Amino acid sequence: MNEPFLSAVPLLTKIEDEGFEAYFVGGSVRDLLLGRDIADIDIATSATPQEIQAIFPKTIDVGVEHGTIVVLFSGKTYEVTTFRTEAEYEDCRRPSEVQFIRSLEEDLKRRDFTMNAIAMDKRGQFIDPFHGKRAIENRVIQTVGKAEERFSEDALRMMRAVRFFSQLNFQIETTTRAALIQYAHLLKHISTERKLIEFEKLLVGKNRKHALEMLHETRLYMYLPGMAPYSEGLTRMCKYDTTSLTIEEMWAFLIYQLRINNDEINSFLKTWKLPVKKIKKIIHLVKWLMIRLKIDWTDEALYKAGMNTIFSTERIYNLLHNQEIDSRIDRLLEQYETLPIKQRSELNVTGNDLLDWFQKKQGPWIREKIEMVEKAVIHRKVSNHNQSIREWLIECNQN
Ligand code: ATP
Ligand code: MG
Repeated sequence: MNEPFLSAVPLLTKIEDEGFEAYFVGGSVRDLLLGRDIADIDIATSATPQEIQAIFPKTIDVGVEHGTIVVLFSGKTYEVTTFRTEAEYEDCRRPSEVQFIRSLEEDLKRRDFTMNAIAMDKRGQFIDPFHGKRAIENRVIQTVGKAEERFSEDALRMMRAVRFFSQLNFQIETTTRAALIQYAHLLKHISTERKLIEFEKLLVGKNRKHALEMLHETRLYMYLPGMAPYSEGLTRMCKYDTTSLTIEEMWAFLIYQLRINNDEINSFLKTWKLPVKKIKKIIHLVKWLMIRLKIDWTDEALYKAGMNTIFSTERIYNLLHNQEIDSRIDRLLEQYETLPIKQRSELNVTGNDLLDWFQKKQGPWIREKIEMVEKAVIHRKVSNHNQSIREWLIECNQN
């Protein structure tokens, strides 16, 4: 066994010494079998949250009612979740209450896909009642039990199927796929927050092009926030291999391909409940992409867009024009580097200077003058020195 599992073995031993069972489960075991990088490891146990809290001196309660306790152990944190069933599903959603149980197999049975329903004990032995290892070897995504039942219990699992399809490039098993089409409409019962998590993972998966196609084919997209009117746009989006794009670039590219009106972009991103900061970044990028599609960069545009946006815009531009990231981007960076200033704070003039030079009362004229100087400095009409700026301003005033 390797890290990060190895460090957690003493944690499993400690739980076992108290007379309970404990296993590695879920995504980390799947990713181990796949040879993928392992983000964080999840542990499942027959001990109740209270029993876990009694065993370990340092714990954080992150959701006792769902059975999850974070344990601080040898300087690391681990999510330890009590075996549970989710017997009563309401409205195609996760149940609000869960039942704690003492059987590992019952816990594995409530999990979404067979590849996610494998447990591994501290010796590295697998407990795999639903043949998840075989599914991984055959590269298939298949529900634990009947797909129809599992998707109607919790419709988010359909989005999860497509996001794993995007991340892993596995096939979706035939009946699971048929159920996606049949039950797509149930996705309307799922909260935006849960859809967003899966959609963003899907957007940056290596197989994203085909995953987006699948959202279209299965009509799942109809039940994603703000997406229903954009069948044609989604088809356009699927034509491109976007694997080089980051998450924010993907959003910007999506907005462009959906041809969302300028004044509707903000509300589109808001229906997705994206954080305000991210929305701002995406809107900034879309704006510069639209400009770039019409005209080439000027010094002023480079200055206003900023380095990250220049990069992102060029990546999308190249994709649309079927071009490689080429020497042009190096040239643009050089051009950016030689700008007299990169941001307003670098201007060698202050509001106080202006008050002193013009002997006028404070007012909006100060901001106007600063913006004037900023533009002149970028266009190299005046050099960025306090005295030069002063002379230039006085001269402008006289004309
Ligand atoms: P990732 O590597 O992206 O975290 P993951 O498989 O670990 O993928 P999580 O959302 O972290 O996904 O969930 C952890 C585990 O919990 C899953 O592997 C699966 O066994 C189970 N699980 C998560 N969501 C559901 C669900 N909606 N229905 C059933 N089981 C689920
Ligand atoms: Mg996980």
